[in-house]
Amino acid sequence: MEPIQNYINGEFVEPISNEYIDVINPAIGEKYTVVANSNKKDIDKAVDAAQESFFKWSVLSLENRSDYLIQIANEIENNLDEFAYCETKDTGKPISLSKKMDIPRAIANFRFFAEFAKSFHFESKIKDGKSSNVITRFPLGVVGCISPWNLPLYLFTWKIAPAIISGNTVIAKPSEISPLTAYKLSQVLAKINFPRGVINIVHGDGNRAGSEIVRHPKIKAVSFTGGTNTGTKIAQESAPTLKKLSLEMGGKNPAIIFDDCNYSNMLNTVINSSFSNQGQICLCSSRLLIHSSIYTKFKSDLIDSVSKLKIGDPNEIDTEFGAISSKEHYDKILHYIELAKKEGGNILIGGEPLNITGRCNNGYFVAPTVIDSLDNSSIINQDEIFGPVVTLQAFDSEDEAVNIANNIDYGLSATIWSNDTEKSNRVASNINAGVIWINCWLVRDLRTPFGGMKQSGLGREGGDYALDFFTETKNICRSL
Ligand code: NAD
Repeated sequence: MEPIQNYINGEFVEPISNEYIDVINPAIGEKYTVVANSNKKDIDKAVDAAQESFFKWSVLSLENRSDYLIQIANEIENNLDEFAYCETKDTGKPISLSKKMDIPRAIANFRFFAEFAKSFHFESKIKDGKSSNVITRFPLGVVGCISPWNLPLYLFTWKIAPAIISGNTVIAKPSEISPLTAYKLSQVLAKINFPRGVINIVHGDGNRAGSEIVRHPKIKAVSFTGGTNTGTKIAQESAPTLKKLSLEMGGKNPAIIFDDCNYSNMLNTVINSSFSNQGQICLCSSRLLIHSSIYTKFKSDLIDSVSKLKIGDPNEIDTEFGAISSKEHYDKILHYIELAKKEGGNILIGGEPLNITGRCNNGYFVAPTVIDSLDNSSIINQDEIFGPVVTLQAFDSEDEAVNIANNIDYGLSATIWSNDTEKSNRVASNINAGVIWINCWLVRDLRTPFGGMKQSGLGREGGDYALDFFTETKNICRSL
């Protein structure tokens, strides 16, 4: 395949240094192309283009901008299968997931913000006896969007769509590990003659290309999704330029399972919430807290369900569990499994690399793993592993469950399983996490706030929250 190039000012361009990074298909463990490794000069060039185009884009009517977003969505939708195939090639995720979740959600991101922005209060008025106030929200200018490898196009577009509908122009960098669908998005932009310079897609190493975006004095805001260590570094590096920051970071999410839940619904969903995308979704449940009265039954049923997961070549439509996204991440997960053993963890199922015969013989596969006998303070229960590894812990009372759930530096999401509405509401209000699901998981109304507390995040995405982030507010007060 041809090298993946930057897309700056409506043109595909080589990186100025002519340096590239290998891109690997993790399901087969082989390089399939290279991606541009941008440096300061490439970012400067992209920022110049974005600044220039800002003057035209920001004064287009909302309806015009909205039409452009719909055109992007339509073009991705027309090529959904091809996009899904590319996402699976880059990440090792099952093709069924790419087709049902990743690409449809990327399309929905553009469609949602195209419509939702029409109801956003870009201008509002407040009046009393002494003054009348006109409050306006206007775009920031050039903004940066930096996204991770686990849900590549899904999260990339979740940032780009609200940024551009609000009138900003964008420097967007996907993960260097999974740049293919971002590249395909740039091909869509070229095909539909999307106004040049409004979305500039630059590729490259995070500590190089990403860091240049974060430190650039003309970039007014950075919306980032990725690891907590990277987010912390971004907060430090952006401080001298006083950028607006939205940081969506790691999680170590509890699922609290009471004995009065709808058991079969819970079990089916917990399998998904634990092992979808090989556990590489920031919202995955990784600490399963189970009421002691059903602990033994749950343990045996979970192991049985895990043993039935269809693991294999992500390109096969019935595969439910695919490869880990990179060799580096595969090594990290296996390291944590060894650490779990050293900490006294009991591996109930999995706990090892998997050999898949045929095409995926050299791919990076780790068996879905369930561990118990570890205290909540163990490293395995405190660190984000971000893979197919879950732990089980029993609790006897509601208070104990809440304490275990909250006793962690992260606070992204939590899932509560109970048919007692009062109890589940009480637990939900006592859990320190930004997103709580009761008797469901990953159900999203895109108008609702999305983001984490503590080390999991700063700010919220979704609906008004995203449009608020990508705009600046001005109040004009007139004496009456
Ligand atoms: P990462 O932090 O390594 O990389 C994320 C992005 O940041 C990539 O594009 C990378 O190139 C870039 N980057 C790296 N160093 C940078 C720097 N110094 N300056 C600027 N950019 C830099 O994360 P990852 O390994 O790609 O993704 C996994 C992490 O993402 C997990 O911790 C997961 O929980 C988190 N995540 C969070 C959410 C959420 O919504 N909270 C969603 C998905 C993933």
